[in-house]
Amino acid sequence: MPLKSFIDVPRESHFPIQNLPFGIFRPRTGAARVGVAIGEYVVDLAALEQKEHFALGQDRQLFSTDSLNAFLALGRPAWRETRAILQHLLAADTPTLRDDSALRDRVFYAQKDVTMQLPARIGDYTDFYSSYHHAHNVGTMLRGPENALMPNWKWLPVAYHGRASSIVVSGTEVRRPHGQIKPPDTSAPVLGPTKSLDYELEMAFLIGPGNSLGEPVAIDRAIDHIFGFVLMNDWSARDIQAWEYQPLGPFLAKNFCTSISPWVVTLEALEPFRKPLLPQDPAPLPYLHLTNDFTYDIHLEARLQTAKLNVPHIITRTNFQSLYWSISQQLAHHAVSGCNLQPGDLLASGTISGAAEESRGCMLELTWRGANPLKLPNGETRKWLEDGDELTITGWCEEDGYRVGFGEVAGRVLPPL
Ligand code: MN
Repeated sequence: MPLKSFIDVPRESHFPIQNLPFGIFRPRTGAARVGVAIGEYVVDLAALEQKEHFALGQDRQLFSTDSLNAFLALGRPAWRETRAILQHLLAADTPTLRDDSALRDRVFYAQKDVTMQLPARIGDYTDFYSSYHHAHNVGTMLRGPENALMPNWKWLPVAYHGRASSIVVSGTEVRRPHGQIKPPDTSAPVLGPTKSLDYELEMAFLIGPGNSLGEPVAIDRAIDHIFGFVLMNDWSARDIQAWEYQPLGPFLAKNFCTSISPWVVTLEALEPFRKPLLPQDPAPLPYLHLTNDFTYDIHLEARLQTAKLNVPHIITRTNFQSLYWSISQQLAHHAVSGCNLQPGDLLASGTISGAAEESRGCMLELTWRGANPLKLPNGETRKWLEDGDELTITGWCEEDGYRVGFGEVAGRVLPPL
């Protein structure tokens, strides 16, 4: 018998009692605080904390704050305890909240009545490049199929350090960026708005407890440092990227905006959806080898809404499971130099593409650098995103009778200044 709540949760909801993702919300009146989503509601953890429903050490202000960072730093025992308390309080046969309408009025908000903020103060942000099919497709465009993958790709999870200050929460509009672009028929570059704005369908995880500077994290302890996942759109300007990226990688092409979904789905909620990691050949070096390493079965979609389309059109259908490198490998590699990860750091997967054409996670691949424009149901075509287009990424896991979902990350493109 699956766990049930006294809150009515529709079957297709992303937020049943099995999920309970954490986020930061602001009610119409009052300060931002920590909440957990269930069905169409938010549970106010600050209100529950004041009623002493949580006993997580001495800190009585853990949830009356506008970021998850303090909670993230506590680590998995505190996360598990909080989740257990919440699942108990929300269960169909627990009267504490169910039968106390005054307490319920103080604790529950309708999601439509609150504003979601970034879940954490993100100090540092890293973006990996862990999808084999994405790396292979992009490498094929640049170097041909024989040299698609660089020699290091199957030995280490390639990444770059991104820009944390321009990470925004879902719903924030994205301004078409300016940068240097080098037209093929001229010898000098020009400064101008990008003509090839793209999305990248990604997921990203938030770091819990960090590691000290100089002290690597063993791969069998990597998971202790990971709290949970959000959806991410790594907005990218391909023409700026093409001119600037050698030899140090992307810079302005990706530092203008990165969008994430507001609800953080915990590894506890994702546990039923673990799958074995795909085989790796060559075998990774010992510091990247984890017996029974795993990934998750998470269905992911991107949909495009133009000013003229009646309904959004799904342009990517893919799965997190197709990634080559695991989250444990990404974290262990990140820290093997002694780099100190800190609570609230964000580590992203890279664009998630599968083998099928419809599973390509960005327009660069879907249109093969603009050579095969997307055809939309109303006759419109797209090589890249246009001003006014809205791109939304969603994702969920599914079991008998319920979904553990991530909500969505959406953003609309504004014309350049
Ligand atoms: Mn990316």
